Order: sequence, then structure tokens, then C-alpha cells
Amino acid sequence: MSHHEKDNEANIESRRHFLKMAAGTAAVAAVAGTGAFARLAHAGGLPPLSESDPMAKALDYTEDASSTKNPKHKKGDDCANCTFYKGKSGAARGPCQLFPGKSVNAKGWCVSHNRKTS
Ligand code: SF4
Repeated sequence: MSHHEKDNEANIESRRHFLKMAAGTAAVAAVAGTGAFARLAHAGGLPPLSESDPMAKALDYTEDASSTKNPKHKKGDDCANCTFYKGKSGAARGPCQLFPGKSVNAKGWCVSHNRKTS
């Protein structure tokens, strides 16, 4: 093996080491991020879904089911009685499977509403 080749190997080794370190840092950051997210979710502190969010607009989401002008809305339907709603009973807001990472209003509504049967 020439001297030059040995140098290359040392370079590769240090690159590997660097990549390992970088991967470790990314993993730590990801876990820290998950922790913060879990704490928010645990506290029921998911950021509220905004009516002006593009996805919310596409589904005509409203914070107040009783005020929607959408003809598909049936009286009494709201997020609290929708199968996609995962909030605790009695809570003002909760997660919706259609809007991951956001909270919807228990009294809100969108066109994807699917009434719980029980
Ligand atoms: Fe509310 Fe259901 Fe629409 Fe989610 S899918 S925003 S819970 S009505």
C-alpha cells in the first residue's frame, strides 16, 4: 500500500466518524422534537387548526358548526360526534385524524364529518 492510499483510508475513516456523529446528532434532535410534541399533545396543547389553513379551507372547516353555511351540514353534527375526532369527552378541543398535529374545536365541523354511530 502506498503512502497516498493510507492517507485516503484515514480520510475515509474520519469521514465515517463524522457521519456517525452527524447521524447521532440528528437522532437526538428527532427524539427531543418528539418529546416536545408528546408533551404538547399530553397537555392537550396541540396548536389550533386555523380556518384559513389550506387543508381546512378545502374541507370547509369551521370553529363553529352552528354557523356554517355549508349545505352538507346536518343539524347537531359537530367534531365531538365525528368518528375522526379523538378529543376527550367534554374537552373544548381535541385532535382530528384528518388534521394531524392540530386541534379542532369540539363544536367545529368540516365536510368530512362522519357521525359516530354509538
Ligand atoms: Fe371535525 Fe370530523 Fe371534520 Fe375532523 S373530520 S374537522 S373531527 S368534522
